[in-house]
Amino acid sequence: MNALPFGKPMLGEEERRAVLEVLESGVLAHGPKIRAFEQAFCAFTGAPHAVAVASCTAGLHLYYFAAGLGPGDEVLVPAMTHTATAHAVELTGARAVFVDAEPRTGNMDLDALEAAITPRTRAISPMHYLGYPLDMERVRRIADARSLMVVEDCALALGTRLHGTHAGLFGAVGCFSFYPVKHITTAEGGMVICRDEALARRFERVRAFGMDKHVGERTVPGLYDVQELGFNYRMSDIEAAIGCEQLRKLPRFLEARRANHRVLLQELKAIEEVAVLHEDRPGFEPSYYCLVALLRGCLAARRNDVLLALKELGIGTSVYYPHPVPKMSYYRQKYGTRDGDHPVATRIADTSLALPVGPHLGPEDMRRIAAAIKEVLVKRR
Ligand SMILES: *Cc1c(COP(=O)(O)O)cnc(C)c1O
Repeated sequence: MNALPFGKPMLGEEERRAVLEVLESGVLAHGPKIRAFEQAFCAFTGAPHAVAVASCTAGLHLYYFAAGLGPGDEVLVPAMTHTATAHAVELTGARAVFVDAEPRTGNMDLDALEAAITPRTRAISPMHYLGYPLDMERVRRIADARSLMVVEDCALALGTRLHGTHAGLFGAVGCFSFYPVKHITTAEGGMVICRDEALARRFERVRAFGMDKHVGERTVPGLYDVQELGFNYRMSDIEAAIGCEQLRKLPRFLEARRANHRVLLQELKAIEEVAVLHEDRPGFEPSYYCLVALLRGCLAARRNDVLLALKELGIGTSVYYPHPVPKMSYYRQKYGTRDGDHPVATRIADTSLALPVGPHLGPEDMRRIAAAIKEVLVKRR
């Protein structure tokens, strides 16, 4: 039987044609595709402003840099996230302070979040784990009471909504990723959304060296001024052209993810050795990045063995995430993380299987995945 990959970019004739058009136009950067992609992204999310950048990590760093974050500042980030959420803070010289997960959804534990606030805390950087919405209304109340910035890492949250509002619109900024296995791809790429127009204009300058005029705005060709420090964090027009086509397909992708997730969830409920991270809450609309199942009892210690056995059966899996970020060597050495710290995030990292629900798969594939899990677990009871 053919293998079912964990993730697969969904690219077709439309993306191929769009790329060729940009190549033939000769305008590879600063061109019209960037603006078109940003506008389409605003239309999908309801964001007032969107600025295309080189990656989600670049977007997070761009914001912290623009906000003047630096040594002596602390930012609260989930322990259970991609390294990028913490690295973006550390790159400025500020300190990432890690908050454990809660056991039902794997999202940041908001009681632990409140307890971790110190006089040095400047910002909270929530991440919607697997695209399941964090309770941002409560995060806002916590942040507003202490004038903290809220910086949403939305890399897995394209399509995530909370009471109708898209993820990324609850704080100062939301940053998205278009890396190949995410909900849509531009190969590499990211997007920053915000409500503040002056901030959006600032992002446009800082993503391009701090120049006051980009190529299309210069009255005399070649003349511009630089009034502040900046990066080259731009996206190319080739990437933006792919993004425009991907956004058109996004509603179909999300519907396929939702349908797959429902089938797989139902199938897994019949397997007593696994517990699934998910909650049905009114108004909470996930983007269904993948489905994470925790192994119970004595099987928990044999997780890697289970992953390898599934691989033998052609089932693509992954682990989200292989270690809580504070237990990655860099952070463990820098901050002296102990083995017992962040117990919930650690249990998810050590005992879970991340299973695919992407639009490259269908309901029959979900049944095959569940059957394979059952087969593998029964043998190991
Ligand atoms: C993938 C991912 C990132 C990194 O995105 P890039 O676009 O590769 O920088 C950041 N945060 C989370 C939660 C991710 O899953």
